[in-house]
Amino acid sequence: MNLKNVDHIGIAVSNLQESLSFWETSLGIELHGLEEVTEQHVRTAFLPIGGTEIELLEPTSPDSTIAKFIEKRGEGLHHIAIRVDDIEVALVELKAKGVQLIDETPRGGAGGTRIAFVHPKSTHGVLLELCERKK
Ligand code: ZN
Repeated sequence: MNLKNVDHIGIAVSNLQESLSFWETSLGIELHGLEEVTEQHVRTAFLPIGGTEIELLEPTSPDSTIAKFIEKRGEGLHHIAIRVDDIEVALVELKAKGVQLIDETPRGGAGGTRIAFVHPKSTHGVLLELCERKK
């Protein structure tokens, strides 16, 4: 399925501005961009570091999966995203191998990406995002 790299690491936060002050001020990482992903009821901030990025996710609605995550487990590591060449090919391959998928078809992510989540039951506890970026 041609995995590229760890595209980003997603962190669930209650307050994006407060969280940004840690990443920007304390660590000195420059903010790459803010974006609201209405489909997923989140506001995101991307902070590039090395060849990957930190993605901060703040819920914009109580219905957001991020809001439910924070309510249940508190702020913290939410998912790891691996970049793939072709997300459809990756999903077909994983399904054929009996991997439990949350998304059998890709959905829209931040930055014009197409994403799909793999269930933590199949990954031994980690929510895994597959992420395809426009060429
Ligand atoms: Zn992500």
